[in-house]
Amino acid sequence: MASDCIFCKIVAGDIPAARVYEDGEVLAFLDINPLGRGHTLLIPKTHFARLEDCPADVLAAIVRRIPVLAAAILLSVGASAYNILCNNGRAAGQLVEHVHFHIIPRFPGDGAVTHRPPLTLDTSALADISEQIKRHIKNP
Ligand code: AMP
Ligand code: ZN
Repeated sequence: MASDCIFCKIVAGDIPAARVYEDGEVLAFLDINPLGRGHTLLIPKTHFARLEDCPADVLAAIVRRIPVLAAAILLSVGASAYNILCNNGRAAGQLVEHVHFHIIPRFPGDGAVTHRPPLTLDTSALADISEQIKRHIKNP
């Protein structure tokens, strides 16, 4: 537990949350500022700041619960689509530094998750970036 972490405090029961699922490894609760009805956060009970800090077994424990939770959330709010978001780092919008997956039910035209237009990169730029990434992959 990280003593200054709001999600660790929720895990410990020190601050309230609208819990929807809990087991020995993960906790799911409603986002307090939802992008839509049913917007849920799924977190490991152990504190890790970012996705790449999580051991593989913790990641597996989180990811394998997403389909069943998403199905329940969609049924509950009458949605048929959802986004999974996992923000890592401030520039990506991560405000709480305890790894979490957003499960966001979507309705046609709701605008809950917005994107700017994509970049236009030519094939040599794409090849250059892919080479850089390949060189930096460690222990896949
Ligand atoms: P992120 O921007 O990816 O770090 O998302 C953090 C999310 O946590 C935001 O959507 C917040 O609304 C949500 N949040 C922060 N504090 C609480 C809380 N006490 N209970 C429920 N959700 C929270
Ligand atoms: Zn934490």
